[in-house]
Amino acid sequence: MTDRATELAENLHTVENRISSACAAAGRSRDEVTLIVVTKTYPASDVRLLHGLGVRHVAENRDQDAAPKAAACADLSLTWHFVGQLQTNKVRSVVGYADIVQSVDRLKLVSALSAAAVRADRETGALIQVALDADSGARGERGGVAPDGIGELAAAVAEAPGLRLDGLMTVAPLAGPYAGRQRAAFERLLELSSLLRADHPAANMVSAGMSADLEAAVSAGATHVRVGTAVLGVRPRLG
Ligand SMILES: *Cc1c(COP(=O)(O)O)cnc(C)c1O
Repeated sequence: MTDRATELAENLHTVENRISSACAAAGRSRDEVTLIVVTKTYPASDVRLLHGLGVRHVAENRDQDAAPKAAACADLSLTWHFVGQLQTNKVRSVVGYADIVQSVDRLKLVSALSAAAVRADRETGALIQVALDADSGARGERGGVAPDGIGELAAAVAEAPGLRLDGLMTVAPLAGPYAGRQRAAFERLLELSSLLRADHPAANMVSAGMSADLEAAVSAGATHVRVGTAVLGVRPRLG
């Protein structure tokens, strides 16, 4: 193995142990939690190494970087997640490679994604991104809809041709009542998920938890954790 492959293998092993321990502590089976490796700012060669190490889910947050990376890895069997704030003018490109867009947070984005998915003859999974620090009716600074906006968006996704409503995503808030309280934030997301599932039983994905707080997410019941730094290293630039 190259040095980089060895480094990634060791980091993955550590993250895998963290997830397994968190599952055991929560009385959950390891296969209830899917690891998504966030490869943003890292090259396609890392994605290829990760695939060789058994990773099957990767995430990106900027279309400019993600589109060429996904194209360079098109021969690999990978599920691509888009987790960044998404402008409608990027939607056509994103739908070309993303299997799941985790950052759906406004009606205009739902209609743009739907139109692009239909045009590309794709079914794109959609998670509603929830901003637990946003005021009623507002959106979060880092994207996401306030909890009271979930129902309307979910109904729109469920009706939109080309889209499949898969569940909810959040990033632990840095401000507001949940600042520094990741566990409470993720438990709130799980409550919102059970309300959503009352109307949309198949929308059972709950994407929460990153390198620093994946244990809290697993403990609260997340089905997907999104881990970047702990696998790939500290990013060379903000992203
Ligand atoms: C970058 C990013 C992650 C991963 O964060 P790390 O702290 O590097 O694990 C997870 N989710 C989203 C939405 C991100 O943008």
